[in-house]
Amino acid sequence: MNLDALQVANSFAELPREFHTFLDPQPLKGARLLHANAEVAALLGLDAATLRSPEFLELVSGQRPLPGGRTLAAVYSGHQFGMWAGQLGDGRAHLLGEILTPQGSWEVQLKGAGLTPYSRMGDGRAVLRSSVREYLASEAMAGLGIPTTRALALVTSDDPVYRETVETAAIVTRVSPSFVRFGSFEHWERKPQPLRILTDYVIDRHFPEVRESQGGEAVSWEQAVLRMLREVVRRTASMVADWMTVGFCHGVMNTDNMSILGLTIDYGPYGFMDGFQAGHICNRSDTHGRYAWNVQPAIAHWNLYRLASVFLTLGLKEEELREVASAFEGDFLAAYQGNLRRKFGLESWQQGDDDFVDAWWRLLHEQRADFTLAFRHLAGVNKDPQAFLSLFGDPQPARDWLARYEQRLQGQTLPQADRAASMLRANPLYVLRNHLAQQAIEAAVQGDATEIETLLTLLRRPYEEHPGFERYAEQAPEWSENLAISCSS
Ligand code: AMP
Ligand code: MG
Repeated sequence: MNLDALQVANSFAELPREFHTFLDPQPLKGARLLHANAEVAALLGLDAATLRSPEFLELVSGQRPLPGGRTLAAVYSGHQFGMWAGQLGDGRAHLLGEILTPQGSWEVQLKGAGLTPYSRMGDGRAVLRSSVREYLASEAMAGLGIPTTRALALVTSDDPVYRETVETAAIVTRVSPSFVRFGSFEHWERKPQPLRILTDYVIDRHFPEVRESQGGEAVSWEQAVLRMLREVVRRTASMVADWMTVGFCHGVMNTDNMSILGLTIDYGPYGFMDGFQAGHICNRSDTHGRYAWNVQPAIAHWNLYRLASVFLTLGLKEEELREVASAFEGDFLAAYQGNLRRKFGLESWQQGDDDFVDAWWRLLHEQRADFTLAFRHLAGVNKDPQAFLSLFGDPQPARDWLARYEQRLQGQTLPQADRAASMLRANPLYVLRNHLAQQAIEAAVQGDATEIETLLTLLRRPYEEHPGFERYAEQAPEWSENLAISCSS
């Protein structure tokens, strides 16, 4: 399908005017398509020829609207680093409209396409460096099976952007069923009418099941909201559990960066851990470690409380809201234990497994062992114990832990080879390590997208071995530790 044949709607644009501002993007000078994502294009029904057309470049560089789309920037607010930040909004994002497909609808958004009324002190731009990182990360997460917004295209340009140094302006085209955030609700904390409108909009589009009657009884509006929140809690808990068990740190879990659909959104100073440190901070700007790896579940929980408390404005009972938000702990543990069970090849979660897992984290932490490879090589430990043991400077504690593991596996029914195979499907070999992203960025700055292409190929199927690409599965080189990933983007 080409662009003109797409079925386009504008449901967010149809919300009352206080929700957004209609405006045109500010195109980049000398915009060039660095990469188009054929997989995401296929989701939208776009064919490969369309991706090569001049119209596509014009679309993803902000020079032409989506046919039938109404371009806008949305308003939202949020808590940043634990403090109420007031109004934020799409300071450098333009929503072009939504593409309807038989599998559902996808909103299309440009990130970095210029100033909006919500830009505050910013310039409305995104640097190529962070755009490559967002482009790769969203596809890496999708490849891992972790809920995320997606990326359709990456455009580079001749325009300079001023950060710590002069960099190049770029635009990422993102797609998602919705870009509504916790902060979109917080924005209307004391304004019952628009809050109700937004809530109905989100329920109708994304959580229609919460209105379905249970046992013949009609569902009140308040009950529907509680049920929606219950689902947001479940999805958020499951997403964060997925982050934890691949060693992912989001880096900026402000409430404006939390998707109401439980998708990973707004990739900035994120990181996949190399050597495991429980308190790993991926964002140099996060001086207090508010968003360290091991704090992420507690932060998600706190963010859910912020979201739930917004509904006090609409007369929902504090106790009921509190109860819904408090379900996070159980949801998170269930999802986290489920992930770990698969990663360790356990047939069930038993008493004592918490201790067993703690011992594992301690082992990795004390020796800064590589997060990804430790799990991956554990899958093959019967065949190749050395690959696993070589990850530890002092192998004795690792041997001791393995003995405990061996004991834990006693009495399982699945044959060893089957367990190993299923563990390989739960423990990725390839993750988007910072140094790999950095190499792709350095090539991209030269106009070369081959590293991006290579990484996408590996990260889309991260659980499989890719012969000839072993280098991409190796531990990070030492220089990687000096990469300063900050909020600057
Ligand atoms: P973040 O936490 O990076 O997702 O962004 C927080 C807020 O700052 C959001 O409202 C963004 O739209 C806005 N923002 C970030 N960078 C820029 C920029 N360069 N220009 C305008 N707004 C920005
Ligand atoms: Mg953001």
